[in-house]
Formats: sequence, structure tokens, C-alpha cells
Amino acid sequence: MHIAIIGAGISGLATAFYLHRQHPDWRLTLYEAEDQAGGTMGTVDVEGFLFEHGGNGFLTSKPDTLDLVKDAGGEDLLMESNDAARIRYIYTDRLHRLPETPPAFLTTPLLSWRGKLRTAAEVFVAPRRDRDDETLKSFGDRRLGAEFTDVFLNAMTAGIYASTPEQISVNAAFPLVVDLERSYGGLFRGMLRKKKKQTGPGGKLMSFTGGVGTFIDHLMTRIPGDHHLGTPVTRVVKEDGGYAVHTAAGATTCDQVVLSTPAHTTARLLRELDSHLAMQIDAIEYSPVAVVGLGYRHLDHPLDGFGLLTTAASRRQVLGVLWDSSVFPDRAPPGCKAMRVMIGGQRNPELALQDKDALVDTALRGVRETMGVSTPPDVTFVKRWDRGIPNYKVGHLAVVDGVFKKLDRHPGLHLNANAYRGIALNDCVRNARELAARIGGG
Ligand SMILES: Cc1cc2nc3c(=O)[nH]c(=O)nc-3n(C[C@H](O)[C@H](O)[C@H](O)COP(=O)(O)OP(=O)(O)OC[C@H]3O[C@@H](n4cnc5c(N)ncnc54)[C@H](O)[C@@H]3O)c2cc1C
Repeated sequence: MHIAIIGAGISGLATAFYLHRQHPDWRLTLYEAEDQAGGTMGTVDVEGFLFEHGGNGFLTSKPDTLDLVKDAGGEDLLMESNDAARIRYIYTDRLHRLPETPPAFLTTPLLSWRGKLRTAAEVFVAPRRDRDDETLKSFGDRRLGAEFTDVFLNAMTAGIYASTPEQISVNAAFPLVVDLERSYGGLFRGMLRKKKKQTGPGGKLMSFTGGVGTFIDHLMTRIPGDHHLGTPVTRVVKEDGGYAVHTAAGATTCDQVVLSTPAHTTARLLRELDSHLAMQIDAIEYSPVAVVGLGYRHLDHPLDGFGLLTTAASRRQVLGVLWDSSVFPDRAPPGCKAMRVMIGGQRNPELALQDKDALVDTALRGVRETMGVSTPPDVTFVKRWDRGIPNYKVGHLAVVDGVFKKLDRHPGLHLNANAYRGIALNDCVRNARELAARIGGG
């Protein structure tokens, strides 16, 4: 069996790893457009400051990424987040600590008394009977009240999906929350019941010594076969009962193909093979996100926590600021501090598309306005993702179901990437492991 895996982000790499684990005798060929594997997962060293291109870690509340690390023999690379990571802030008109306990929620100035009472009244809100998709805004307003939605859900959606509650599908982006309503009649009821059932420890934020790029390099060493880096695939067509994968260097035939490329690329690669399928995949849009890293050799601010997220109503130009060196100390040299500013998303897409100098200016204005930091950074880093995060719009799951139904017509052709069923690393890895099991019959 010869399988081509196109796209060496975490989705493609984890699929290749689990395929090899089940069938060490199968031939795997990996194609990656960039010179470096990892996709949005990558780390850059700027004068001793380590900046992540994208995510800085994963949560252990779901087991998938941790299992992959262990399965690939990478435990020694793991790094636990500092306890400071528990402390998070929301910027509205100023910085407020995110309440972690019911008493802290009662006293937080983030909501009015009326807003707090409305949130507490969630226990009395009848569950919705139909299963139609809705926006997170509609779900949140219905169950928790508009004040809670516009502060907490707004900031959280910016932090996880670089999106807004008005635009994101609750069913696609927050399926566990929808399940609480469906299975237990409400969120608080469901959380209480689940807590009683919970036996293991809660989730912890984890990363890798030297940044997430270290694990990508390690994972690559655990995937034997031909690795074609710096080799963009141009199209995939049917040939000889299998598929032909075309690159600038020519075509290679294989029995099966896994496409782990972003949806717009996947659509382009499949246009000749199935134009209708390509059109459906192309309907999944992305929003731009920019990451600006700031490194300081001397900074007075304590950076006492994970960082901050802003609300749309605050009208700040940044989505949030991650205090990376407080969470994972090796992200800055001893005595130094590093943070990363997130800009753009669906809230302000045009801001993410500015040139590098303008992005640094926006980031500096952001840390001045939200944190009161006006010290100039000693080093900067900019990574612009023009199509950074897939938009899980209302109806996303129906689009994805349609895509996978059509895919059944092409045995041996597989899709696995963050565009379909989850964007977090844990989701990408789970989908990869499940796909490898389906292909490998394991
Ligand atoms: C700024 C940012 C912050 C994030 N933070 C977190 C976080 O803290 N925690 C978390 O769990 N998740 C986070 N995520 C989400 C998570 O990192 C991604 O969803 C995940 O890494 C996507 O992996 P993927 O393999 O599906 O896609 P990608 O990483 O996009 O990989 C796709 C690969 O396909 C390659 N490719 C494209 N075209 C071709 C072609 N023609 N031929 C061959 N190869 C091609 C690309 O170069 C790329 O390597 C973040 C994402 C971003 C953008």
C-alpha cells in the first residue's frame, strides 16, 4: 500500500504517524509546500526570545495530543505551564481578572447585578427542543443573557477562534456546550452533573521545551518514508485505480491520498477530479490573523498570568495579548519577558492584513492601551496568516457532512485538516488518529 499525505501540519503529520504505527510496511510519501513542517505550529528564535507562529500549547482536558506525544516517545520534551497560567484577564474599559469561582463571579465588576442575576437564572431556562444550528450570540443570549455573552463569550471567541459570537456556529465550535443543554437541560445543571462523574484531574496547559516546533521536529523523525518539503502539490487526479499526485517535479501514483491542506488549497487540488466537491470545500472560508511578538530585556510590568483578551465593545485594535514568558519561562532569556499580541480575526480582518511595521505599531498601541506598557521592545517578530483560522459559520456542520458524503464517491481519497471538525490541536490529532484507524482497518 502506498499512501500520499499532502500537508505536513499537525493533521497530516499525526495521520502519517498513526498510519505508520499500524502498518510499518506501508509506503508513506509526505508532501509539504513550505521548507519546514508544522503548518501553523512553529517556533522562531529571535536573539534568545522564542516566539510561536501560532498556538503555544494544548490542554490535557482532552487526551489526544498528550497521547500522541507519548506514542511518539516525546514525553521528555513536554513542559507544563506555570501556575500563573490560571490567572486570565479581560479588557473592557480596563483590565479585570477573570473570575474563577462563584464568589469571585458575584463580586466582579465585569457584569452588572442585573447581568449576574440573568446569568444565574440559566437554571430556569427551558432547553431548546430542535437541533437547528444557531450563532453563539443567539445561544448565549438565550441561556446566559446578553451581558454575559457580550463580555465573556465575546472575549473567549476572540481567543479561541479569532471570531465573534455573532458569526460563529455554536454547534460546530462549541459542541460540548450544546450537549450540556441537550443532555442535561442546561449548562449549570450539566456542569454540576458532569463534575460529579469526573474522576480524573482537570485540564492543564502543556507545551514543549524550546516551543512547539521542537515537537514537530521530533514527530518528523518518527515518520519514515519520503518527505518532500518545499514541494507544493499542484493537483490530484484519478489514475490506474489509484491517484496521481502532481508537483512541479512530475507525478507520483499511489493507492490512497490524505489531503491535510487548508480548505481553499484542497479545493484547488481537487478541481479537476470533482469540481462539485471542490466547490463545496471552497465554501469554507478563513479569517486573517496576525501574531506580533515583543521581547523585553527590562520590563517593569509583572505579566502575572496567561494574558488578556479584549471584548469587541472595548473597541481596542488587538484581540488579546499572551504573556508567554510567564506561562512557559523558556520563551525569554533569564530576567527578560516575552509576549505575543493577536490582531485581526473576524472582528477586524483588515487589521491583520497590514504590513509588518503597521502591525508592530498596532501591537504597541494595544499593549499601551490595555496594559499601560509604553517601554519599547528590544526585539519584535511578526507572523501574518492571511488565511489563518477557518470560520465555523452557522451551517458549517451541514457543509462538512455534504463534503464527506460526496467524498464517499472517491474510495481512497481522504480529507483531514482543521477546516472540518475542530481546530484545536486535540481535535486535529483525534481526527487524524481516527482517520488512520479507518484507513488501516485498526
Ligand atoms: C495564530 C494561531 C494560534 C493558535 N493557537 C492555538 C492554541 O493555542 N492551541 C490549539 O490547540 N490550537 C491553536 N491554533 C489552532 C491550531 O494550531 C491549528 O488548527 C492546527 O495547527 C492546524 O493544523 P492543520 O494540520 O490542520 O493545518 P495547517 O497547520 O494549516 O497545515 C496545513 C499544511 O499544508 C501545507 N500546504 C498548503 N498548501 C500545500 C500544497 N499545495 N502542497 C503541500 N502542502 C501544502 C501548509 O504549508 C501547511 O503546512 C492556533 C492557530 C493559529 C493560526
